[in-house]
Amino acid sequence: MFIPKRILFEKNALEYETGINTYNYFKHNTKVELIHLKNNKFKENIPGKSTYDFYREGKKTLVIGVTKGMKFQSCKPSANYQLPLLSGCTGQCEYCYLHTRLGDRPYMKINANLDDILSSAQNYIADRLPEKTIFEGSATSDPVPVEPYSNSLKRSIEFFSEVEHGGFRFVTKFTDIDTLLNIDHRGKTEIRFSLNTNKVINNYENKTPSLEKRIEACKKIINAGYPAGFIIAPVFLYNNWEDDYRRLLIKIRDSLPNVTEYPLTFEVISHRYTTSAKNIILETFPDTNLPMDDKSRTYKYGQFGYGKYMYSKEQIKNIKIFFEKEINNIFDKKIIKYII
Ligand code: SF4
Repeated sequence: MFIPKRILFEKNALEYETGINTYNYFKHNTKVELIHLKNNKFKENIPGKSTYDFYREGKKTLVIGVTKGMKFQSCKPSANYQLPLLSGCTGQCEYCYLHTRLGDRPYMKINANLDDILSSAQNYIADRLPEKTIFEGSATSDPVPVEPYSNSLKRSIEFFSEVEHGGFRFVTKFTDIDTLLNIDHRGKTEIRFSLNTNKVINNYENKTPSLEKRIEACKKIINAGYPAGFIIAPVFLYNNWEDDYRRLLIKIRDSLPNVTEYPLTFEVISHRYTTSAKNIILETFPDTNLPMDDKSRTYKYGQFGYGKYMYSKEQIKNIKIFFEKEINNIFDKKIIKYII
């Protein structure tokens, strides 16, 4: 669970249940500084002049805010829309996709006005009837480390359990899921775990739980009757990558219950980066050995108006062939959602 060094409460945040719960949870903890903002300027209250220092202090900071815009972003290929519950993450993965869009906002922010967010979700569902509308809860965050006191996921899971044409899914590398185990979720929420080879985890996924702990948490989720799945990402091509990823898939299979109520889902994403992310990564992790040689990649324009450096078409084709074959061989009841 994330214990921040400081919590910044936006104006009005304490008018909401999430704000009050978080305040009550930490009010007697003398190691956590509680700051009530008058002007909602977060950065002034986070020390660190250089990108390097600001990133590290930002990662120790929690903001309890109130989101204003209720226009949800689309979220292909994982869902129809992003559900804006939170932004930021307490992990420090060097390759993190959040460097691009939240590079100047490394702190974790919980949006306290959850009822407003969920009632907007209801409108989006109504607009798409009779189609089903799926919402992604982790498009701009890993929401799990703050869940024991935010209850954002718990309340969203309860909401979606009662909505006929809506579904909810989120992904995590973290393990603070015990408060989600006894919810009457009715199979409407899918919980996925982001896994990688030990080489990738040890080299790049700083401040995140081990592979074994993530799989252990996934077991609990499956035993609680949730649909479950895995995001294998980012896939790196290094010497013997096939052996390592095959071993990872076999380890998943051997660790989980033989019979699961729902098929396991798989999403596989090859490593890619933007120029803005690369610049931030080089400042925040000056000793990184992340493979980011532009010349050895293929540049591709993306949906948010900025380009990405991808592996070549041929390499991505090899990744697709490899994972399709291995997942099909190793797992009986599964769905491969996409390999990109
Ligand atoms: Fe980024 Fe996910 Fe790592 Fe958090 S856990 S730093 S969101 S890649």
